[in-house]
Amino acid sequence: MTAEAVAMVWPGVGGRHRPVAVRLEKPAPGEALVEVELATICGSDLHTVSGRRPGPAPGVLGHEIVGRVVRLGDGPPPRDVRDRAVAIGDRVAVGIYAACGRCGRCRRDLPQKCERLFKYGHAPLAEAGPLSGGYATHVRVRAGTPLAVVPPELPAGLAAPLGCATATAVATVAAGGAEVRSRNITVCGAGLLGLLATAMLADQGAAVTVVDPDAGRRATAKLMGAANAVDAAAEPPSADVYIELSGAPAAARNAVARTATGGTIVLAGTVSPGAPLDWEAQDLVRGLLTVRGVHNYAPAHLAEAAAWTESAAGRLPVDALLGPVHPLDDLDAALQEAARSGAVRVGVAPGEIDQGR
Ligand SMILES: [Zn+2]
Ligand SMILES: [Zn+2]
Repeated sequence: MTAEAVAMVWPGVGGRHRPVAVRLEKPAPGEALVEVELATICGSDLHTVSGRRPGPAPGVLGHEIVGRVVRLGDGPPPRDVRDRAVAIGDRVAVGIYAACGRCGRCRRDLPQKCERLFKYGHAPLAEAGPLSGGYATHVRVRAGTPLAVVPPELPAGLAAPLGCATATAVATVAAGGAEVRSRNITVCGAGLLGLLATAMLADQGAAVTVVDPDAGRRATAKLMGAANAVDAAAEPPSADVYIELSGAPAAARNAVARTATGGTIVLAGTVSPGAPLDWEAQDLVRGLLTVRGVHNYAPAHLAEAAAWTESAAGRLPVDALLGPVHPLDDLDAALQEAARSGAVRVGVAPGEIDQGR
């Protein structure tokens, strides 16, 4: 069985993507072949392309993916994060990783830290092959990948980020503690993660103050339900839960000073070196503070992300979250636009996409 697909291979920092033709093989048992509808450009891809974070070169980037299942391997079909059997024709959001399900970390319910972890858009071409990232017409979805079957009417701009930003936002909110109703929450960073976390927290009745230097992003934060949106230089109110999603070193450094006694600090924005902390240990002790790190998520978080997004889709400002969508062969221009423009997400689509969403 052969058919052609195209993957955009990233050669390394400073290089242009080049399209590579790929023959489509029948998926292995437990695997699925997904035809990409939309891939959104995550901030971490921009860090990879700019060299701020080490990347798989050559490799195929892109890990926020929604598409349609076009082939399945033999044997029982994969089950999605809401325990639905995945069928050909299903529209699915693809999780960022595949985990083995058997190692010590998987057994401790830390599949995102699996000892044999595979991450889409993060794997060298030589090891993973070309259908290993979202910037392609197709993605080979491996066994052990969290998948969420989503309805056809869910806007692609909300469906594609489910497997990275939205599920991570759920994990971040969960790390802040169960009871957020009527509590003061500070969210640092009004990128997609911060905006989604804000909307989820506001839905639960929290008073959210968003901190971001960009006025346009602050306006979007208000649309997402933030009670306040302030410049990074401003002093936000002391928070019961302080959620750092910006990656700005000062936002992590300021966490202890800006968190109320008994509060929780959640750090999820920094994934590269360069932000040492200089907290006083006694401030953590005397303040009865809890500090949590969050990186990626478990399948249950993706299930919650999909359910929440489906319920919230009608009231989320989709046009403020997804900016222009470029054709796949225009990927370099899409990445440049994502880096330079204020768009929260820029998209890449191999085929026609309904921009009306
Ligand atoms: Zn991402
Ligand atoms: Zn594992």
